[in-house]
Order: sequence, then structure tokens, then C-alpha cells
Amino acid sequence: MAEQRKAARIIAVANQKGGVGKTTTAINLGAALARRDRRVLLVDLDPQGNASTGLGIPPEDRNVTSFEFLLGEASPQDAVHETATPNLLLIPATSDLSGADLELGDRQGRTTLLRGALRQPLMGELALDYILIDCPPSLNVLTINALVAAQSVLVPLQSEFFALEGLSQLMLTIREVRQTANPSLRIEGVALTMVDRRTSLAQMVEADARENLGDLVFQTVIPRNVRLSEAPSHAQSVLDYDPSSSGAAAYRALAAELMSRES
Ligand code: ADP
Ligand code: MG
Repeated sequence: MAEQRKAARIIAVANQKGGVGKTTTAINLGAALARRDRRVLLVDLDPQGNASTGLGIPPEDRNVTSFEFLLGEASPQDAVHETATPNLLLIPATSDLSGADLELGDRQGRTTLLRGALRQPLMGELALDYILIDCPPSLNVLTINALVAAQSVLVPLQSEFFALEGLSQLMLTIREVRQTANPSLRIEGVALTMVDRRTSLAQMVEADARENLGDLVFQTVIPRNVRLSEAPSHAQSVLDYDPSSSGAAAYRALAAELMSRES
């Protein structure tokens, strides 16, 4: 008898602050899960398209983007690209997405578009285990779409002074989404990024985060590692670019931790 496949876990990678490691986390966590034989789709929801570039899909190849997918104008099959990492699929983004706020205006149902797109029966054919959504650095209609579509939010938190202060706005937005379109939205975890444990500042930020957020903070921390910042220019995840780097080890550990929290 065919084994019943579990529905894909949909995780929004979100923080309204730019440069905190959302895209780096989406790409490398995705690649690490894919290497553990999970089928992963990364949805690039940032008009900057960094995840698309970082996974080797140049702008001229992005005929169909996450915007058309969101609007229901493209099927999953038409929107999805394979990447160099087996089992890691991508729906790319272009700057077209930057008009989403305006274009969607106050159209009825504008915040549930992505949820609708990801729930359509054709998605089943992709046989996905995980869907990671790389959010833009803002709490705009695109990020709201991600939070409405997701089961959980993974929050990269850059290890710096005032890191926690920046979280309150995101937490308020998560609460609002719970009160309206997505009551069961969970926080998957907070991942400390760009951590240099040799510095007392990093130690302080980590202690502060663990004290205030408790178990929400992943045990795994992502170190500051230059290989992580180099990999995208080689159109590779760090797991391909330099598997022995500390960055690769950290994202493998994060994938293992995420999977162990599943049951
Ligand atoms: P976001 O998507 O939140 O804007 P990115 O993932 O693009 O953030 O990261 C911002 C910059 O920091 C990028 O240049 C990226 O390569 C770099 N970066 C991210 N994480 C690390 C890390 N752990 N170590 C070193 N550089 C990093
Ligand atoms: Mg980004």
C-alpha cells in the first residue's frame, strides 16, 4: 500500500530588518534539508531576488516568478526551477514583486493569495516535504502573505546590540495574523546569525536572547563565516561551495535540529 505522504511544512523566514541573514538561512537551510533527502521548495518573495541569484537562476531565466504564482497566473509546474542541489527547487523573484503592494491595493483576499497558491492540488505533484519562504525586509503585503500561508515562522536574528528590540514589531504582526487569517501560526524558532562567540558582545546578545526567548532560540547558532557570504556569488549553497566550512556545519546542524523538533 502506498504510504500516505505528509503535507509539506511551510516555514516563513522573516524579519523586517534587512541584512540579518534571512536569505542566507533560506538557501542553506533549504540545501541542508535537501541533502537529507527532503524535497524542498524555496519561494523567493523578495523583489531583490537574492535567493534566486544565489541559487544560480539569473534574471533573464526568471520568465515566471513568484508574483505570477501568487496571483494564480502560473501553475507550480511553470514557476518552479530546479537548482544545482538535487531536491532543492526554487520559485524565483524579480523586481516585478516590488509593485505588489500597489498592485494588490486593497483587493479582497490580497493577504491569502500565497496560501491559496500553495494549497492548490497541483502542488501535490511536487511531493514536497518543506516549503521555505524567503521574505522581503519589510512587514508589507508580501510578508503578510507568507505569514498567512505558513505553519511557522523562522526568525533569523543578527547577533548585535539592540537585536531583541527589533523583534517586537515582528511579534506584533505575528499576533495580528494569528488573530485573523492564521490562528495556528507558530514561531518555529529564532536563529542567531553572524555570531562571533569570541566577542563579549556576541556572548551577551546570545545570553540575552536565551533569557528572554527561552526555548524559542535554536541551540544551533550560525557563526560569522566568510564562506557564507562568498557562496552566492558562485551560485551555490555553502554546502556545495565549501562543505567543510563552519557555515556549512552550522546549517547542517540547524537542519538536524529543525527536523528533530518535528514530531
Ligand atoms: P537578509 O536576507 O536578511 O537581508 P542576507 O542573508 O542577505 O540577509 O545577509 C546579509 C549579508 O550578510 C549578505 O551579504 C550575506 O552574505 C552576509 N551574511 C549572512 N549571514 C552571514 C554569516 N553567518 N557570516 C557572514 N556573512 C553572512
Ligand atoms: Mg534577503
